[in-house]
Amino acid sequence: MSEALRHIEALAALLPAAQRSAHAYAQEIDLFSGAGEIEAAHGSGRAYLAATRLALLQSEAAEALQEIRNRAVDLDPAARRPDDALSLELADILIRLLELSGYLGVDLGAALVAKTAGTLGGYRHGGVRF
Ligand SMILES: [Mg+2]
Repeated sequence: MSEALRHIEALAALLPAAQRSAHAYAQEIDLFSGAGEIEAAHGSGRAYLAATRLALLQSEAAEALQEIRNRAVDLDPAARRPDDALSLELADILIRLLELSGYLGVDLGAALVAKTAGTLGGYRHGGVRF
């Protein structure tokens, strides 16, 4: 087993607890107030809430992109600080991803292992260049 795959499997083992924690964090800061009523009020309520969560994840990716576009941000890795704007936007993406996958019951760790095992086995992004 390659070192990369060992690290991926170690990360994957941590993800279920991280997903639960992200969901608890979202509840604690009332990130989705009224979501229960929406889910109960409409047959597609859960789909609406999943789509909203995905849109919010995309929004965080857009915020990270804006930080990269901002010429004030130094993109040298040596310049990174845990609390700089770009680092915080990337953390937002991770929190949203963990929360969304937890909401949908996705075992992100198992999916990560399945995806990377396939890639290491020769599958390359559906045949596209990158
Ligand atoms: Mg943000």
